[in-house]
Amino acid sequence: MIYLDYGATSFHKPPAVYRAAEKAMRTCANPGRGGYGAAMEAARTVFDCRTAAAELFSCRPEQVVLTTSCTHGLNIAIRSLVRPGGRVVVSGFEHNAVTRPLHALGADIRVAGRRLFDWDDTLEAFDRALKGADAAVFTHVSNVFGYILPVGELAALCRQRSVPFILDAAQSAGTLPVDFSALGADFVAMPGHKGLLGLPGTGILLCGQRGEPLLYGGTGTQSIRQEMPEELPERLEAGTLNVPGYAALTQGLKYLKRVGTDAIFRQEQQLLQHCVRGLVQQGFRVFAGAHQAATVSFLTGQDCEEAAERLASRGIAVRAGLHCAPLAHESAGTLETGTVRVSLGFDTTSGQIDAFLRASAKLPSIR
Ligand code: PLP
Repeated sequence: MIYLDYGATSFHKPPAVYRAAEKAMRTCANPGRGGYGAAMEAARTVFDCRTAAAELFSCRPEQVVLTTSCTHGLNIAIRSLVRPGGRVVVSGFEHNAVTRPLHALGADIRVAGRRLFDWDDTLEAFDRALKGADAAVFTHVSNVFGYILPVGELAALCRQRSVPFILDAAQSAGTLPVDFSALGADFVAMPGHKGLLGLPGTGILLCGQRGEPLLYGGTGTQSIRQEMPEELPERLEAGTLNVPGYAALTQGLKYLKRVGTDAIFRQEQQLLQHCVRGLVQQGFRVFAGAHQAATVSFLTGQDCEEAAERLASRGIAVRAGLHCAPLAHESAGTLETGTVRVSLGFDTTSGQIDAFLRASAKLPSIR
């Protein structure tokens, strides 16, 4: 199979990631729940993950809250910042992991910036919408179109207007710089299983403030109290942590540090250009532009699900449909059709893109 669905998950991992999960299962008990060797080993394993994440994202280890997913982190962050009826500005490219929790809270959601690949439009729309807002949530990279939003500038606008904000780094962590201290974000959420090359069931929430617990329960600390601890990370980490998952994630983070996220980004960019050129030549409608990460959506002359099935029958794994992001499709005018999405990863090769293009050449063009 040629796997081109890295936007969904990094199906391939560096070998050390698999090994670390097994080792932790064999050597780690419950972290913070005992002073004997295997419990201490678990505590060390978890702390290593916090330290590796803190190094990659420029924050302190205690600001690294370990979650079960990006969705989990976003829910904590949103519940911490947004009250029912509160006015929240979001970009036109948010995932349901952002919009559904906001909707469930009854937030007054204002969508700002709907033009793909257009930083001026995004910044002007946010500048207008942030006046009077209680909070902002924006994605770093659209999971449907690969649009890289101008997050440094958006963060500066939020800071200028004293609007607390959350960054959804689901599609950027591992390929684009995420500098927590430079952004000055209240929260940054990311999954462990995509660009960070870890396992499903893991995620990271970087916290610029204490936050409100979403889950209440044991933390292995201050057991006599019935309130959650005031301190991070325990405050937001009720229940037993996924130690094998975090052991594996540490290896993903170390791999990224060793290889360099900028090197991965450069390599993916070259392949993206190759892929986009090929799709355009084949007569498809291709959503491409400046500020694009290694994810591209396109439309053929065929229903997108059928097109993806035809590609799957030739051994190519891509995703079709709305990709859990109806807002992004509404912004791009593809809500009715959905799109076929190709998303590249750290080990994608030009040979794989060639094979994909040979398969896509068999699909009906849009002309
Ligand atoms: N945000 C974006 C932009 C995503 O692409 C995704 C997953 O695809 C998420 C949030 C949610 O991530 P997870 O399913 O790992 O919680």
